[in-house]
Amino acid sequence: MNDQQLNDHRWQALCQRARHPSEPFFYGVTTTGVVCRAGCPSRLPKRENIRFFDSCAEALQAGYRPCKRCQPLQEKDPRSALATRVCRLIEQDPDNADLASLASALGYTEAHLQKRFQTLTGLSPLEYARALRQQNIYRELGRGKSTTEALLDAGYQSSSQFYSEFKLFSSLPPGSHRQSGAGEILTFTAAQTSLGALVVAASSKGLCWISLGDDAQKEVENLQKHFAKAEFCPPDRDFNEWVSQVIGFIDNPRHPLALPLDIRGTIFQRQVWEALRKVPAGQTLNYQGLAEAIGKPGAARAVAGACAANVLAVAIPCHRIVRSDGSLSGYRWGVERKATLLDRENST
Ligand SMILES: [Zn+2]
Repeated sequence: MNDQQLNDHRWQALCQRARHPSEPFFYGVTTTGVVCRAGCPSRLPKRENIRFFDSCAEALQAGYRPCKRCQPLQEKDPRSALATRVCRLIEQDPDNADLASLASALGYTEAHLQKRFQTLTGLSPLEYARALRQQNIYRELGRGKSTTEALLDAGYQSSSQFYSEFKLFSSLPPGSHRQSGAGEILTFTAAQTSLGALVVAASSKGLCWISLGDDAQKEVENLQKHFAKAEFCPPDRDFNEWVSQVIGFIDNPRHPLALPLDIRGTIFQRQVWEALRKVPAGQTLNYQGLAEAIGKPGAARAVAGACAANVLAVAIPCHRIVRSDGSLSGYRWGVERKATLLDRENST
């Protein structure tokens, strides 16, 4: 079963109100920031506002708060009752959570508290506070607030404080063996656009990542997975200027995006992407046509693979590739976004 099928299966279990699904699982509600165990009696959220997790600890690491009704941490293990109390105390005031006051409030030594919490959740209490604050920011971004507004509302004094915490936190669970981005520092930011959440990253050479999606946090996670070894830093004025150009291009994609790109891929992929960049706005091509454009008419299938591997949405306009019958083929960032971009390019 792939992830999609597994999640569909889990969604079915939630709809059927299965109290004891065959495999226990947890779900975070992106609009409220709460994590529930499967079988929680609370009202069922909309499908698009749910993120599934294998364990409650993973959801906490992503900044979700344990639900008060189903108490997802409270399971057999008596240590989890303490962990839940720690979560509650931090949730009350994530900005001022410190280990010493948590320990004295609960009557444990700092070391003991830290160890117990970490064993159960994979996080230190302070990392949980940080994750909560980040989750709050993503939710605010999802409501259409600007990055700066969201950061200030979440209690950050400045964006650099947020990004330095983010850097600390993001070095925790990459779980990826890829060398992508090793030793590099990438600038990144998230913003809301007319096509949903936008995440942009750049190296010293140029833009290396543009993605669009429904959920800013998911897009940031995808970025981090892709460049698992990179460090991420806050945007400066020049970078913000690039980001506003990308946003402008999304609203009006008829004029070419004239920004430096740091294009990474095999020689073949780069050939395909270069050819894609020559397809003018308002025109479309099929895979066969693109294969012919690079002088490899037999390579349509490989060309399709290269299009799918593009990580620079709109800058490398793979949305201009359609099926040979003219219908829209898939699009990494959602086929509806592809249709909207093409409509915008065709309107005069
Ligand atoms: Zn619940």
